Amino acid sequence: MNNKEYDVIVIGAGNAGLVAALTLQKKGKKVLLLEKGRVVGGLSSSFIRGRFEFDTSLHPICEFGSKENSGVIYDLFSRLEIVDKLSVEALPEAFAVYSLDHKKKYVMPVGKDAFILKMEEYVPDSTKSMEEFFSLCEEIESALSYIRENKGHFDMEVLLKKYPYFMAIASYSVKKVLKKINMPLKAQEILCSYWSYLGSPVSKLSFVQYASTIYSCITRGPVIFKKGSHAISLLLSEEFIKNGGTLRCLTGVKEILVKDNEVTGVVTDSNEKFLTKHILANLSPNVVYGNLILDNVVPNKAKSLTNSRSFGARGVSVYIGLNKTKEELGLENMTYFIYHSLNSDKEFKRMHGVFSGNLTAILKNSSIDSSCLVLSSLIFGGAFDKLVTKENYFAMKEKFAESLVSSFEEATGVNIRDAIEEIEVATPVTFARYTGHPEGVIYGYMATSYDNLIPRILNEENEIFIKGLHFCGSFASWLSSSSATYINGEQEALKTLEEMENEKV
Ligand SMILES: Cc1cc2nc3c(=O)[nH]c(=O)nc-3n(C[C@H](O)[C@H](O)[C@H](O)COP(=O)(O)OP(=O)(O)OC[C@H]3O[C@@H](n4cnc5c(N)ncnc54)[C@H](O)[C@@H]3O)c2cc1C
Repeated sequence: MNNKEYDVIVIGAGNAGLVAALTLQKKGKKVLLLEKGRVVGGLSSSFIRGRFEFDTSLHPICEFGSKENSGVIYDLFSRLEIVDKLSVEALPEAFAVYSLDHKKKYVMPVGKDAFILKMEEYVPDSTKSMEEFFSLCEEIESALSYIRENKGHFDMEVLLKKYPYFMAIASYSVKKVLKKINMPLKAQEILCSYWSYLGSPVSKLSFVQYASTIYSCITRGPVIFKKGSHAISLLLSEEFIKNGGTLRCLTGVKEILVKDNEVTGVVTDSNEKFLTKHILANLSPNVVYGNLILDNVVPNKAKSLTNSRSFGARGVSVYIGLNKTKEELGLENMTYFIYHSLNSDKEFKRMHGVFSGNLTAILKNSSIDSSCLVLSSLIFGGAFDKLVTKENYFAMKEKFAESLVSSFEEATGVNIRDAIEEIEVATPVTFARYTGHPEGVIYGYMATSYDNLIPRILNEENEIFIKGLHFCGSFASWLSSSSATYINGEQEALKTLEEMENEKV
């Protein structure tokens, strides 16, 4: 194999690309990781303004846990040998949610029993349905772990026999299942506060996806990585290089070479050619089939499937450096969900407009006298493009900042604007520029009732249209949360490995 030839080429060093590259490198493969940006991480990156370093997508991880009560991400990072190098901060609560319209705040604790008790306090007679919810979650956690262990090649009979409830509800939405177990509406709304982290309202969100995230959040507690999610990206890339992998930043791929419906290599923006039979693309199929492969060799089925999916959420984030700590400001929580109402379908509709005022917030102290606050709001559909033009772009950025800061102040009753030292606004235009994702989408494809986590995993084999070409990341089968992209990166790497093993026989 010459120095321009690799066992696997990974395009894009986002969460999934980094995990995939490291997994394959650790299995002894010769891997080239190509990233068009200056640094690794994609959406999990960071930038500096004044004395503040902001994480672009700072958020809690629910599936981490601890050594004693490890979640799927803890186990994955252990396998990748980075877990001991990460310092984490456990959040004191599972979540805090505010309703602007009803001027109400609900703070939900970590721990199953404490959570059920608190819910009973907020919503009398909710305990029975909450217990039923947790028992479904336990089955889902075991079933997903069985699916992961079998890299998608699971035995349907085993699933049906061992996990009958899981199979019965595999394609159901959150709304459908919670209604079926007679959970009082208010309890459903509080329980589903996390919906915007996963990018779909309860009528579209897969119950399996939501249940596995929120169950881990409640039973293990969410954590924040002290040095931010970008620190994970850096650790993964360092470990990859340490294991002999080749990482090239500022090296975009402009073409994927295909011959007789098999990948043969890539060409970079600077016209360098690298050869391989296996490519993992940490990008959207829209970009891969639309821009990177010659149109006449893209199978029609690939085009049809890609066109049949619609994009998930886009986002606006306001990154604020405050010259006071959270305690000095009088802010109690580290994470906040702020919505007009807790009805996710109603709020999802509102978020098809641009200034919805709905947001998630993360606040953490950054020194003894300062803190970083990140306010993020999702936008669905095309409203952003209708309203924002080249001419009004900067004025609109200011309006976004004003709208999100006002919502945060209204919900918490705390004045933050007087403590603002630095402020930066990222819009779908910013995210498109940095990642190359169409429309600046930050949550992959929209999940729908028939095109959701489990149907996508079950169908993965049918979605390989060009031999040797796999997708990983937020546009792939495990959907789009941060944890999902790490998991998916490993899963796709293991499948590629299997494919290589099969070629030997
Ligand atoms: C503001 C914000 C808030 C978020 N909040 C949450 C949250 O609360 N909870 C949660 O779970 N998730 C959240 N996310 C989403 C989460 O960060 C993403 O799902 C995850 O980081 C995406 O990882 P990925 O593997 O899909 O790769 P991406 O981050 O999409 O990276 C893809 C990489 O490919 C590179 N690339 C593109 N084209 C090429 C090319 N031609 N050649 C070479 N390289 C290329 C890009 O430069 C990029 O580095 C948030 C994201 C943002 C931006």
